[in-house]
This record gives sequence, structure tokens and C-alpha cells, in this order.
Amino acid sequence: MKIETIAIHAGNRTDETSKAVIQPIVLSTTFERATDGTFPGGHIYSRASNPNRTLLENVLAKLEGGADAASFSSGNAAGMSVFQSLPPGTHIIAPDDMYHGLRNQLKLLFAGILTFDFIDINDSDVLQKHIRPETGLIWIETPSNPLLKITDIKKVVAIARKQGIKVACDNTFATPVCQQPLALGADLVMHSCTKYFGGHSDLMGGALITIEKDDWWQKIRQVQEMGGAIPSPLDCYMLTRSIKTLPYRIRGHVHNAQLLAEFLQKQPKVESVMYPGLPSHPQHEIAKAQMTSFGGMLSFCVKGGQDEAARVINKLKIFTRATSLGGVESLVEHRATVEGPDTKTPFNLLRVSVGLEHIDDLIADIEQALG
Ligand SMILES: *Cc1c(COP(=O)(O)O)cnc(C)c1O
Repeated sequence: MKIETIAIHAGNRTDETSKAVIQPIVLSTTFERATDGTFPGGHIYSRASNPNRTLLENVLAKLEGGADAASFSSGNAAGMSVFQSLPPGTHIIAPDDMYHGLRNQLKLLFAGILTFDFIDINDSDVLQKHIRPETGLIWIETPSNPLLKITDIKKVVAIARKQGIKVACDNTFATPVCQQPLALGADLVMHSCTKYFGGHSDLMGGALITIEKDDWWQKIRQVQEMGGAIPSPLDCYMLTRSIKTLPYRIRGHVHNAQLLAEFLQKQPKVESVMYPGLPSHPQHEIAKAQMTSFGGMLSFCVKGGQDEAARVINKLKIFTRATSLGGVESLVEHRATVEGPDTKTPFNLLRVSVGLEHIDDLIADIEQALG
């Protein structure tokens, strides 16, 4: 089945008792045993599983072409469960522009338990040089946040495979509509469902999707069940509802982002535009090879430094100044201030989550703000 069909049907089931076409929200924390001690409904206690979560996990797994999915209370909870599932002493290689929340988890919470290197993962020689006998995981994020760098997934997988190292990919920016890392050889996909899956900036969630139900996956499941980083039944319901329109929303985001990127590139006050759909993007050819479309996120640098970037951001009327991304409304953010002192993000960079407003209105707003 195609992704539009999966998005609509794989997360929903007609209710057997009421015949309600749309799944009911099951708030019960506990499920009745049969007289023989079994659980005929397939659920025991909601920290372990819940009907709404099972449906959500079903659609998440199918969207990414995985064997199973686990849904979490946030993207960071999903990432944290991966790190918690690794044996102490494991070495992780991650990109130097890894999402700052997960980079900080490693640096502040896992120092002394795991070891890690943050490197330019696109440079095969640098990557090879950092591999050690105890390297267990290569983490990639493509397109990256907020520089929109592209990592060649197949290339990293080829290096990792030879040494028996797992590859996990943060696919939040791309979504499975634009890119499917498992099909390119990755072992695990991570999402912040808070972003495009939720799509309306009104819920938090995270997900992991695995290529196979191996021992590592069982460990991740165990971490989640014991740690309890689970989404509520209502959040699961809202996510499956939003996912039904994901493929069509992404089309709109991609359409608007491409046109906005092309417009920005022509503006004299713009120093550079980072969008993988532009032929001028340094890894445009890799993006074309591994993505079906280029996503709804872009960044641009304003000439004149941080002060000029601040002037532009404060003049925007339709774009809301806020962090996060993937909602129907356009957001703009001065990313360096969010990421803190060790950021590698240029201070004149603005990150844009291109929403689903009409592109003419978005362009007109940017035009007046730059002018
Ligand atoms: C937002 C985000 C996360 C973290 O997800 P939360 O839902 O905020 O916990 C991880 N990776 C990327 C790329 C993100 O944009």
C-alpha cells in the first residue's frame, strides 16, 4: 500500500462492541483477566500497552517500513531510551550538529556511563578514524537541525555494517513521507512526534521504529516499560488522527519551503539559504538520491550579523517567533540563542518552519521584514 493509504488506515480500527468507525479513547489503566488467568484483550496494564498506543505504534511501524514501533511521551524520551538500552561503556558516534537536546543528554546524563564523539559524520575518513572496538552505535540526523546538512545514509550504513555497528537515524525533519532510513539500511529510526506527526503544535510525543525485533529492540521495550516514558491514550489518539493527513500536509510544507527558499536566495540582504531542495545546497545530489522530497524546514543567514537578524525576525507578522517546528503555522527562530554557549550555529541564522499558509502571504511577509 502507498503511504497515503497507510496513514489513514493503519492507525485506526472499527470498534467491535459499539461499531464506532473511529477508535474510542481507552482511558482505563487496567484490563480484566479471563477466568483462566489470560488477558483476552491483549492488554494488562497501560504502562506496558494500551489499545490507542498499539494502534499508533502500528501506523508508525508501517509508515517507516519497520517490524515494530514504540511510541514515547516525547522525542527526547525516545532518544533517551536508546541510550539507556546500551551496555555501559558503549561508544557512540554522533554528528557535531546533533539536535542539542539529545547531545546534552549524552554530555550531562550519560557521561561516565557511555562514551561519545561528536564529529563531522559526512567525512568518511573522520568517521572511520573514530570507530573503536567498543563503538556500538552511530547516530545520524538528516537533514540536520538547524544547518540542514545531509548525511549519506547508505554510506554510513556501509561503514557501520562492516564492523557490526548499529545505525540509528533521527528522521524528524524529513518524516517517512520524504525519507525512509530503514529502507536505506538503518537499524532504527527516531522521531519527535511533537513536530510533523502531530502537525498542529498541540501535543508532545516521540517514536522509535525498528527494522527487526532483535535483542536490542527487546531491551529498548524493557527500558520503556520499566521507565514509563509513555504517551497518554489521548495523545496517542490525537497523533493517529493527525497522521492521517501527514502525507498531504508534507506536500504543502515542501511546496512552500521550496518556493520560499528560492525567493530568499534572490534577496540581496540574505547571505545564504540552507535548504536541501536548492541545487546550490552542498549535498543536493545526496538529498536527491535518498529523499523523495526535501521537507519543510529551512534556515537562512542575514547579512549584517545578529543585530540585523534580530531586526528581521521582529518585523515578521505571519511567522511566529517560537521554537519547535512541523505545525501548520509558520515559525521562525533565532536558533543560536536557544542552543546555548557551545552552539555551532551562526548568530545571523534564522531557522524557519514553513507552514501551510498561502505561499504568497509568506513571501510578502518576509519581503517587508527584509526591506
Ligand atoms: C524536537 C526534536 C527532538 C526532541 O523531541 P521532543 O519531542 O521535543 O522531545 C529531537 N530531534 C529533533 C531533530 C527535533 O527537532
